[in-house]
Amino acid sequence: MSQPVLVLVEHADGAVRPVTGELLTLAAQLGSPAAVVVGNPGTAELLAGELGRLGAGTVYAAESDEATGYLITPAVAALQAAAQVAEPAAILVASTVDGREISGRLAVRLNSGVISDAVGVSRAEDGTVVAEQSVFGGDYTVHARVTLGTPIISVRTNSVEAHAEAAQAAVQAVDVTVDPAASATVVAEHPEPVGDRPELGSASVVVSGGRGVGSAENFTVVEDLADVFGGAVGASRAAVDSGYYPHQFQVGQTGTSVSPQLYIALGVSGAIQHRAGMQTSKTIVAINKDADAPIFELADIGVVGDLFDVAPKVAEAVRSS
Ligand code: FAD
Repeated sequence: MSQPVLVLVEHADGAVRPVTGELLTLAAQLGSPAAVVVGNPGTAELLAGELGRLGAGTVYAAESDEATGYLITPAVAALQAAAQVAEPAAILVASTVDGREISGRLAVRLNSGVISDAVGVSRAEDGTVVAEQSVFGGDYTVHARVTLGTPIISVRTNSVEAHAEAAQAAVQAVDVTVDPAASATVVAEHPEPVGDRPELGSASVVVSGGRGVGSAENFTVVEDLADVFGGAVGASRAAVDSGYYPHQFQVGQTGTSVSPQLYIALGVSGAIQHRAGMQTSKTIVAINKDADAPIFELADIGVVGDLFDVAPKVAEAVRSS
């Protein structure tokens, strides 16, 4: 059997998040996918069937009553313990705020290297694990490899489609000892989750508003269009800095990186820092009243027009289709 590749499972409310399927698909390109579940006792058994369907042959259960009461330290401890048991070819985590911090801490513990925000993985001819990164707003592709220890790779959500071969997942317990003295405890979560909309970083449709939206009240136009697609709402930094929408929704270099199937930009000019966070979206639609706006350079479909005129018509057309 080929060398295991560990994947940190993202889960909520008893269900595996879509990014985990994407990571297991990438893991299968490198070796034998193995999932690491951190949670309360019983979580791994609950998720094992779904993880098997997504391609995990082994599920490492890192479970304790305290596992969900701390921030990221249980995940670091769990991956360290699983790595000691499995001796993996690589460890993959989602490139979220938490995932990136977990990668860094884990690399210190395992004395190995991190590659951040990868969009693909492969094996070089000599068998070394190679991660592909899209940098400088997608203008360049970098192939990076770790030269010391087990490569720890954080992967951008929506980089690949999940299509791993189903496996029969065997659950195996690993230790998850968390030193409370070295851990931050979750007291409350801020900001509160936003209704029924999907999480920005993993949504398959994102509708973003820029400064052109003009006010916080006007953002209902952006929300309405997002809702007809069942998508997430994003915002440019100018919109966020102007107080139109909360910072947690900022897309771009200093916000969230998104790579949805469909990205719709309303009143966004397409500055390089914004593009850096959405350029790998599969289909990009831009609505802007300035025909020379840079966003049209990367849009698959561009509409020169007033967003307050065009966006409600698009929403209506989708609703009645
Ligand atoms: P503008 O550039 O002002 O564009 C507004 C657009 O709306 C214009 O193209 C205009 O034609 C159009 N418009 C106006 N009214 C309408 C209408 N009624 N209908 C249709 N179109 C209309 N930016 C980010 O987004 N994300 C980041 O993460 C980010 N990080 C940054 C990091 C650094 C270090 C720096 C220096 C900048 C960063 N920025 C970031 C800011 C970035 O440079 C731009 O200033 C910002 O993206 C511009 O936002 P915008 O497109 O909404 O606004």
